[in-house]
Amino acid sequence: MALVTLKELLLPARREKRAVGAFNVANYETALGVLHAAEGEKSPVIIQVYDRLFASCKAADLCGMLERLARRASVPVALHLDHGSCLEHVAVALKAGYTSVMLDGSKLAFEENVKITKLAADLAHAAGCTAEGEIGHVAQGDEGALTRVHEAVEFARTTGVDAMAISIGTVHGYYREEPMIDVVRCAEIANALPELPLVLHGGSGTPLEKVRAVIENGIAKVNIATEYMDTYLKSSYAELKKLDGKFLPTDKFYDPVVDACAAHAARLIRFFAGK
Ligand SMILES: [Zn+2]
Repeated sequence: MALVTLKELLLPARREKRAVGAFNVANYETALGVLHAAEGEKSPVIIQVYDRLFASCKAADLCGMLERLARRASVPVALHLDHGSCLEHVAVALKAGYTSVMLDGSKLAFEENVKITKLAADLAHAAGCTAEGEIGHVAQGDEGALTRVHEAVEFARTTGVDAMAISIGTVHGYYREEPMIDVVRCAEIANALPELPLVLHGGSGTPLEKVRAVIENGIAKVNIATEYMDTYLKSSYAELKKLDGKFLPTDKFYDPVVDACAAHAARLIRFFAGK
């Protein structure tokens, strides 16, 4: 099946009030878990890789494998750079074969964010790929700066991004207390930009009824990293404990871990698709 860009996955999703899951992967097993889940659900999926892996050859090495897996998959798959920190990483991703990139300038002043995101979007489009930007700041555990509607509109129009991450109360990582998700703000941004797929970062652990509400109101991509990685680690640990020091070939060892990852991702993909 085809390796696709965000546009092909997210435009129909936005129109149909559903979302595509975007899962961070870091190795063969986490990638396989996502793909098995998407194939089982007959749903498209986005595989994304952390920016820090672009600081070394890891991201390009991974891409070789991911491309091969994606082309073999029975569902459309996009390969995406998550939270690109600089134009250099964007260029590395596009050269390596990722079909989509995010440039995260959300910590910068508005004009600076617009400027660098537009450069990233232009690079992506020139390569036949797509770009995601972020306006407002999704924080790392503390309160972020919520996205202002008029800034979101100007940001989208000026940068030409294909998908836009907005800050509406979710945070990265796990929550310390129940988050206040601003569904009204999400709806206002969506109404002002009726064709643009919006992105929810910090999906891990967000109450599902809130996720449903924002999918009804413009969110077409939901990022899942922490809870998926957690399932991978916990399941690996449980298998190690079972092994109790005995030898098992590595591929066999990871089979049940991949199954646990796939089950986790499938549950979310189903939910995002409104099934
Ligand atoms: Zn994020």
